[in-house]
Amino acid sequence: MTLEYLFGPVPSRRLGLSLGVDLVPHKTCSLNCVYCECGPTTRLSIDRREWVPTPAVISELDRFLEPGPRLDFVTFSGSGEPTLHKDLGKVARHIKQRHPAYQVALLTNGTLLFRPDVAADAMAADVVMASLDAGTPEAFQAVNRPHPQLDLEMVVRGLEDFSRGYTGELWLEVFLVPGLNDSAAQMKAVRRAAGRIQNARVVINTLDRPGAEAWVQPAPAGVVEHARRLLGGEAPGAAGREAKAPGAEVDRDRLLHTIRRRPCTEQDLVSAFAAEPERIRNILLSLEREGRIQKEMSWRGVFYRTANEPAP
Ligand code: SF4
Repeated sequence: MTLEYLFGPVPSRRLGLSLGVDLVPHKTCSLNCVYCECGPTTRLSIDRREWVPTPAVISELDRFLEPGPRLDFVTFSGSGEPTLHKDLGKVARHIKQRHPAYQVALLTNGTLLFRPDVAADAMAADVVMASLDAGTPEAFQAVNRPHPQLDLEMVVRGLEDFSRGYTGELWLEVFLVPGLNDSAAQMKAVRRAAGRIQNARVVINTLDRPGAEAWVQPAPAGVVEHARRLLGGEAPGAAGREAKAPGAEVDRDRLLHTIRRRPCTEQDLVSAFAAEPERIRNILLSLEREGRIQKEMSWRGVFYRTANEPAP
């Protein structure tokens, strides 16, 4: 099946086996985080609209889910900020009604939750994982480089109000960028902000693959551990739902769609698809020869990312 808006399914530490749904074109977001694994934001926007056609997304979901594939979650994530799509709630409710065997997760930067329509849409998800990387306006600007009409207080208040009415599982992800938000003072500021948000579990994260800016480095293990203790959070790799091998059929399209969302090593793809290394290597080689993907060296090895993404 050719997939346009769905990608994976891939195993995720916290969500188990997760099918991604991408509701915005690459790379449409209200933030331009220095660490973004999807690359720099080319369309910095806070406009809610039908960025990709809702009927086409729903039809692709129905085709994929009707045979009842083994999955733990259907997850809104991908090449930008999913809450920018005006029909996020409609699509989430469709999954819950038509495919009740599957849980729905939303990976969001949380910047638009102050809007009642966005909060109402997010309520439809069983799990919401929102970002909170900064506790001061300065760090918000430095790490997240937001749309000019956003400010940190607006974002934290949106999360705070949302958390009061939300009955699902709420996670806050704090992404540490050395030199920008990992000082003791910055972490205490994040703790103050996170303390306003009810019933949220905190997870600490740091760079695992090339980010939007080449100078961003992973935080040292000691700093991550310090943040974890200070914020009461879980470190990357902390146990959550166990990721299960999907045994999904792997083909060129599926591989390309996964790489488009985030750069991957050969080993990442072997694990994600539970596929033979030889099979993955051959597809990567042919995609590279055709100029559709390119290599990038990083501290974790050779990553593949898509070449020549379409201009916004
Ligand atoms: S990390 Fe998330 S919120 Fe930040 S720029 Fe990338 S897609 Fe947007």
